[in-house]
Amino acid sequence: MRKPIIAGNWKMYKTAAEAKAFAEEVKTALPSAEKVDAVICAPALFLQNLVESAGNTDLKIGAQTMHEEKEGAFTGEVSPVQLKDLGVEYVIIGHSERRQYFNETDESANRKVVSAFEHGLKPILCVGESLEQRDSGDTGNVVEAQVEKGVARLSAEQAAELVIAYEPIWAIGTGKTATAEDANEVCGIIRKKIESLYNEETAGAVRIQYGGSVKPANIEELMNMEHIDGALVGGASLEAESFLKLLEAGA
Ligand code: PEP
Repeated sequence: MRKPIIAGNWKMYKTAAEAKAFAEEVKTALPSAEKVDAVICAPALFLQNLVESAGNTDLKIGAQTMHEEKEGAFTGEVSPVQLKDLGVEYVIIGHSERRQYFNETDESANRKVVSAFEHGLKPILCVGESLEQRDSGDTGNVVEAQVEKGVARLSAEQAAELVIAYEPIWAIGTGKTATAEDANEVCGIIRKKIESLYNEETAGAVRIQYGGSVKPANIEELMNMEHIDGALVGGASLEAESFLKLLEAGA
């Protein structure tokens, strides 16, 4: 059985005080970690404080991106070694906003995924089609190609540990959610692709999240789907009360 994973992506929101208040509130009301993995992916600036606030609780902290190199002359970047050193556990890789505004590609996402595993971080690899690609019937091909390139050079053991977030670009931050059936269909395509690249066991283990305007009102329907193992959530992860409701639905 795959354990559900609900991850909040705060993007470039919150002050340090707000981040701390959120962690203090959420950590006391978390559902059991045996039932759901609860992750907050925060701006790099707040990671240390959040790791400290989360302490020994089951609230896990993730970064929103990282550089693929362990160190070097890369002004403004954060390395996997630095994240690991802080106690960060997860890292989002290849989010569509990184692809759109910061020139990230399937190839750079793959280098980062490989590096994240090398340095003991758990990557959440984002894939998803644009509205144009969906309208022209290309969703399956686009997502399969993103997955194949994204997992290149990963062993079957690593692929089984990977979290893949299926996030149709047209559903992110727009209030439009894919129907649970459509989301499940694409998550199923992703699982099949992993099976064809590795084997049935790996495909059965990899956790696939849906992301795109997930909120307390629609998460249950999504979580009831066969191939959806959790959610990557932007807007609705910003308030503690709403994040806790998402966790309850995931547990
Ligand atoms: C995201 O940031 O990955 C996301 C899915 O955002 P939202 O939930 O706001 O659509």
